Amino acid sequence: MNQQLFEKVDEYISNLLAPEDIILQETIQSLDDASMPQISVTPTQGKFLQLMLLTSKAKRILELGTLGAYSTIWMARAIPSDGKIITVEFDPHHAHIASQNIAKAGFSEKIDLRIGKAMDILKELISNGEDAFDFIFIDADKPPYAEYFELALQLSHPGTLIICDNVIREGKVLDENTNDERVKGVQRFNKMLANNPKVTATIMQTVGAKEYDGMAIAIVN
Ligand code: SAM
Repeated sequence: MNQQLFEKVDEYISNLLAPEDIILQETIQSLDDASMPQISVTPTQGKFLQLMLLTSKAKRILELGTLGAYSTIWMARAIPSDGKIITVEFDPHHAHIASQNIAKAGFSEKIDLRIGKAMDILKELISNGEDAFDFIFIDADKPPYAEYFELALQLSHPGTLIICDNVIREGKVLDENTNDERVKGVQRFNKMLANNPKVTATIMQTVGAKEYDGMAIAIVN
């Protein structure tokens, strides 16, 4: 693999089609300033999420894994003014920085940041009878991806688009003998996805500024 070439081409595409404005640049900078990991989606992936939202005419979004709200801000920009995003983050430090970034981006009304474990908040949303979401982005810890997806299905309607990031992990999914819990989690998730009659799904491999990986894309039947 030619990672250098992938990075250059990713930069070429994002300069052309997904340029970051000052808000997005400052959001990325805030992660360094707060000693947080640089594991947000890339600008081209942010734009891809926007296109998926526009295609599905999504208004109600659920995101698991906020970090500094970089992906959340990309998504908030692609939904109508009466749209709503619930984004879930369990690390209070990440949530604090995210809420500052959300306020700077002018989305404190549109984005509802919930602090807690994704599993708990999913169950809470279900038991509170939360309305179905049009789009769900799963980008939190990998071991329980299959469980997150099953719970997310209970918060969906026919046509809901569900995207799950990091399901290829540099090709490590091919290793049946892996001891890596994150890889095991996505292996289990990918198998569940393949056998789930409630959705039509595929996985797109992703190369670019971040390591080689993949995004699962599913539509609820
Ligand atoms: N979606 C973000 C973006 O692209 O800008 C990146 C999210 S980052 C890959 C994953 C985030 O999920 C981290 O901030 C981490 O603290 C959070 N996380 C990990 N385990 C979690 C859990 N059980 N519940 C909620 N959030 C969790």
